[in-house]
Amino acid sequence: MSLLLDKKLFLFTFLLSLVVQASQLNPKPFGGDEVCEKVHYPPEILSPVPDLKKCLSTINGLAVYPGDPDYYESIKVANCRNSYFPLVIIYVTKVLDIQISLYCANALNISATARSGGHSYEEYGNGGRNGVMVIDVQKFNQIIINKETKTVAIGTGNRLGPIYYNLNKAGFLIPGGSCPNVGIGGHATGGGFGFVARKYGLSSDSIISAEMVTANGTFLSPINSTHYPDLFFALRGAGNAGYGIITTFTYKIYPIPPIVTSINISYVSEQVEMAFMSLAKVAENLNDNITPYMRLLPDSNDTYTFSIIAIYLGSAKEAQSAVKELIELSNPAYMKFEEMTWWDAISENATMQTIFPVFDREPFKATSFDVAPPGLSREGLNFLRNFLNNIECYTKALIDVYAGGAVSRFPLNSSSFTHRGTFYTIQIAMHLKDRSKEVQVKCLEKHLQFRQEFQKRYTTYFSYQDYIDKDLPNWETRYYGFNLPRLVETKRKYDPHNLFNWQQSIPLKLP
Ligand SMILES: Cc1cc2nc3c(=O)[nH]c(=O)nc-3n(C[C@H](O)[C@H](O)[C@H](O)COP(=O)(O)OP(=O)(O)OC[C@H]3O[C@@H](n4cnc5c(N)ncnc54)[C@H](O)[C@@H]3O)c2cc1C
Repeated sequence: MSLLLDKKLFLFTFLLSLVVQASQLNPKPFGGDEVCEKVHYPPEILSPVPDLKKCLSTINGLAVYPGDPDYYESIKVANCRNSYFPLVIIYVTKVLDIQISLYCANALNISATARSGGHSYEEYGNGGRNGVMVIDVQKFNQIIINKETKTVAIGTGNRLGPIYYNLNKAGFLIPGGSCPNVGIGGHATGGGFGFVARKYGLSSDSIISAEMVTANGTFLSPINSTHYPDLFFALRGAGNAGYGIITTFTYKIYPIPPIVTSINISYVSEQVEMAFMSLAKVAENLNDNITPYMRLLPDSNDTYTFSIIAIYLGSAKEAQSAVKELIELSNPAYMKFEEMTWWDAISENATMQTIFPVFDREPFKATSFDVAPPGLSREGLNFLRNFLNNIECYTKALIDVYAGGAVSRFPLNSSSFTHRGTFYTIQIAMHLKDRSKEVQVKCLEKHLQFRQEFQKRYTTYFSYQDYIDKDLPNWETRYYGFNLPRLVETKRKYDPHNLFNWQQSIPLKLP
């Protein structure tokens, strides 16, 4: 009897642990509806394209159309500043589903777009306009680790959180960004800056091959330095800009150090200038085990206005010694060096605090600027602070520090990512929630005016394509620089009829 009870209890506990594990690995991605405006169908989206349903009838995955009960849930993405209404969202489950979907898109003259984690700043995962076919790859969620070859095959439907989680369990990591809900499909394809960029480079720098379905339905595998090298070059830097539906990446993986140190060095508003200038002096000589990420807030912030945050790949003693000169030069108001495991450090430093969150979507606008060594001038910094301090919508600057480090050591022609010599990339993130439409419009106008002036006077010409900004003039050359002609040629070869097109997809002709 008691054995039976024990068995029942064991079974119950086992099932419960599976449920807990499963819910951890499949985070419900989007919440935050209260801050997003209720959206309503534009009437034209309800009149279906004749034959679309019929054409898609043989796919294995779920297709969701306007009017279906799941439609609103299916169009939720991270930014709700604009809302776009696809003709259909197809949750493809296998390559054949993608091939049938693209056949239908071609036959019925519908533009197609891939969606992975839905974190595009301009909602390009939903097409960036109404009336497109969204091919959602989230069911391509395999993570197959090969300890012998030190590689992992990752389905492009995975978000960063589950990838880090599974790799960590096996003792490995890959380079990538800090937000666990970002999808690898749209992230690694544009570069992918994160916690270990100065050690191992960008996320895209560790990709060794890919698989993709092209516009005419051809499944290409493997795409690597010997097979389809033109495409392999394009996908690592511009792969999220309209070449096809990528289904898998194979990555090189790196061993997790036994101990890492979570670093936070913070300053009050009077110290910002000194801190900024001190960081500029030491950044290029920092060792590769540290990849600082900086946060500059408006002066009204009542704690620390400026913070340098990092995960040091080593002990607290080593971490302290690595930033000794910075500390001596800048005398921070607050410091923390806490030894922990890699997993605890990435969970603590994850943008959303916990690695498996429900991501609270909200309306926001972001712009970005590559800054050349030795960083912003005093005047440039003051211009930036003045903007942050006087704009009505809460706005902060997030700064990814490249300064030397591995990103700049990869040869310029190793991929289509051109921003190798950047000292840091400044991202201006403007939050628009709880603001009336009128105030939002004013804030956006001021933001874009600031962007123009700031870029002209204080930063380089270039911006980072993963922080995509549809209002950026000359975006083609600002994102892709001298690689643009090569990227256009590759686009013409693999998508000659421009099936994958939106405002900032790679065009068929040079602008
Ligand atoms: C909260 C937050 C934190 C972020 N943190 C970082 C960071 O730390 N570092 C950093 O570098 N970036 C960061 N980003 C930017 C992020 O890398 C980009 O927004 C990225 O494009 C999002 O990818 P996604 O798959 O989630 O988005 P989606 O909206 O699904 O896709 C973005 C673009 O990629 C294309 N795409 C997606 N999947 C595929 C595929 N399988 N094949 C071909 N094309 C595809 C889509 O068509 C779309 O154009 C952050 C963004 C947010 C919102």
